[in-house]
Amino acid sequence: MNFSFELPVKIVSGIGCIKKNAQLLALGRTAFIVTGKSGARLSGALDDVCSTLESLGIAYHVMDEVTENPPLLTCYNGGRIASDVDADFVIGIGGGSSIDAAKAIAAFATNQQITADEIFDSQRRINPALPIVAIPTTSGTGSEANSYSVLSLPDGMRKRTFSARDSWPSIAFLDPEYTYSLTNEQTMSTALDAFAHALESYLSPKSTEISAMLALYAAANIWSVIKDSPEEYTPKMHEKLLCASCAAGIAISVTGTGFPHPLGYSLTMLHGIPHGRACAVFDGDFIRYNQRTPAGADRLAKFAAQVGEDIDVIARTLPSLASIDLTLTESEILEHVELVSEAKNYSNSPYVISKDEMIGIYRSHFTL
Ligand code: NAP
Ligand code: FE
Repeated sequence: MNFSFELPVKIVSGIGCIKKNAQLLALGRTAFIVTGKSGARLSGALDDVCSTLESLGIAYHVMDEVTENPPLLTCYNGGRIASDVDADFVIGIGGGSSIDAAKAIAAFATNQQITADEIFDSQRRINPALPIVAIPTTSGTGSEANSYSVLSLPDGMRKRTFSARDSWPSIAFLDPEYTYSLTNEQTMSTALDAFAHALESYLSPKSTEISAMLALYAAANIWSVIKDSPEEYTPKMHEKLLCASCAAGIAISVTGTGFPHPLGYSLTMLHGIPHGRACAVFDGDFIRYNQRTPAGADRLAKFAAQVGEDIDVIARTLPSLASIDLTLTESEILEHVELVSEAKNYSNSPYVISKDEMIGIYRSHFTL
């Protein structure tokens, strides 16, 4: 035992948790709400937040321009608007895209001296970000319970992550009802993301007793819901997935993710494959490569025992649940690997894959 663990976010959960804990939203005179066009409205979360703010006499401004895989420049412009309207705090409502965008906007709002790129430079981001409230409407990223903000770069081909002490949300509201409006496809894809977080976190050399406990809890619960690809997700299933994705989000705050994540980024950026599916297609490879090392094999045996499933079944099932129908040419494969080859995540597991192995993985999935 040799770990330190800090959870700067207060997590409140349950149906109706925003209205029941309205006072927690009293973080200033003006709120800046960050959302996409549809999720926050369809889920009912935006209405609940606006009526709660009104009951507290807090003014608010809604920016609903966040698109999937949030562009850095959208967040940069959002920061300017948040500053212009004198926002005291930022509320991200939606999936990981809106919550990650809220974190970046909170930092840009107080750091008008930086260029868009300089958000990744902790030396330049000198002023503390505005406080952040996170309200997830997907059960996937766990962004409500970590400090990561994954942003799409202006070249439209790469993603980059920033993380800082003040990009942790101060409060997260987890209301499972907000996930009922997701389609089955969205629920599956986001659950696959959360499962990938649990698996990748558990295999990381940075894993600790607490992150491991959270990762195993998350993996077992997600697996019990998704393994048979249900035709209908019940309220109980949604609740399980929301709790599990939050736990997996905390687990990766300790460990980071492994190689399925960067390999998946280029599938999302170049082919529009949703993030969860794009990572899960590589989970089988992640398992098989790590089985080659004694530490990886031992860890995977414990993981499988906790999930209650044979590890080879897990390795086979995840890519099939990801269900990606894509064919790439040899030059496209090389371009994909080039785009993601500098990520740090490759060394975050007992087995460290080489560039040639990455190319081999892409070929095995995406050539005829
Ligand atoms: P998302 O990109 O936030 O949302 C996917 C789609 O679902 C959007 O069209 C969204 O609509 C819609 N949606 C969201 N909630 C809905 C609801 N309740 N009902 C109906 N539609 C809803 O998906 P995500 O998988 O949650 O987030 C992916 C992003 O998070 C990626 O950029 C990924 O890189 C990042 N990520 C971050 C972390 C982290 O730790 N911070 C971890 C993993 C991934 P609207 O756009 O209109 O809302
Ligand atoms: Fe992810």
